[in-house]
Amino acid sequence: MVIKKAEILGYCMGVRRAVETAELACIENPDKKIFTLGPLIHNNSALEALSEKGVNVLKEDASDFVSDGQSVVIVRAHGVPPQIMENLKKKGVTVIDATCPRVLSSQKRAADYAGKGYTVFLAGDKNHGEVAGISGYARASGAECIVIEHKEDAEAVEHVPEKSVLLSQTTISKNEYDAIAAALKAKNEQLVVLNTICPATNERQNALIELCKDVDGILVIGGRHSANTKRLLRTAQELCAHSALIETAKEIPAEFFSLSRVGLTAGASTPDFVIDSVEAALSGHGSC
Ligand code: SF4
Repeated sequence: MVIKKAEILGYCMGVRRAVETAELACIENPDKKIFTLGPLIHNNSALEALSEKGVNVLKEDASDFVSDGQSVVIVRAHGVPPQIMENLKKKGVTVIDATCPRVLSSQKRAADYAGKGYTVFLAGDKNHGEVAGISGYARASGAECIVIEHKEDAEAVEHVPEKSVLLSQTTISKNEYDAIAAALKAKNEQLVVLNTICPATNERQNALIELCKDVDGILVIGGRHSANTKRLLRTAQELCAHSALIETAKEIPAEFFSLSRVGLTAGASTPDFVIDSVEAALSGHGSC
């Protein structure tokens, strides 16, 4: 069997940085308790590996955190609103900020426009931590921040003030963002539309499209609840005769062992060791 990996797969820059930051925090602070605000990553295998290294998970807003002065709290790649950061610092804990640089840039741009008197429109999922963080920065700088989830929400907006800016959650699809921007622009031509979409999702999609040309089946490795992993599966289903989403090597469907050429891709939260174990299991060297 020939096994081919997509040219770009697995951890994106921000997630890799956050995981490495947590691992380093465990090594550098052997006498302290290490916490993350919410799960660091949408992948059970990665979370189990971090837990074994001593990383504990708090609620996203840290409401369950009791400070003992001996704790390190890591802010994950999605970032948090400034109020949560300040509250943690007041409690005397060591805060390590692993917010992805791309998300930091969105937070800063939202705050800058808000400070100049703009109304901030933010396209994304209302319940997502990144959206809570970015809107928190806009509001802390004195602006109204209106979160828009879908084109229909944008169409329902009654008034887009003269000084308005639109930015997005980093992982929104470009089509969805373009539709939201068009609906708001129809109400105010002067709307400033910023491009804050991260290329990580598209890069994995494009690499998968290329890979589908060369293989008989695709295994998408990643968490079943990860949005970008599910999007990879949809593309594989459209372009390849055999496709499946698996979280670990144990879940490889039997049919894949009889294919001649199998392609592997993985979501942006899938650790390298899980990808390696799937590859090893397929080539007959691993346990599955
Ligand atoms: S998807 Fe992009 S913005 Fe989000 S953590 Fe990864 S690199 Fe950062």
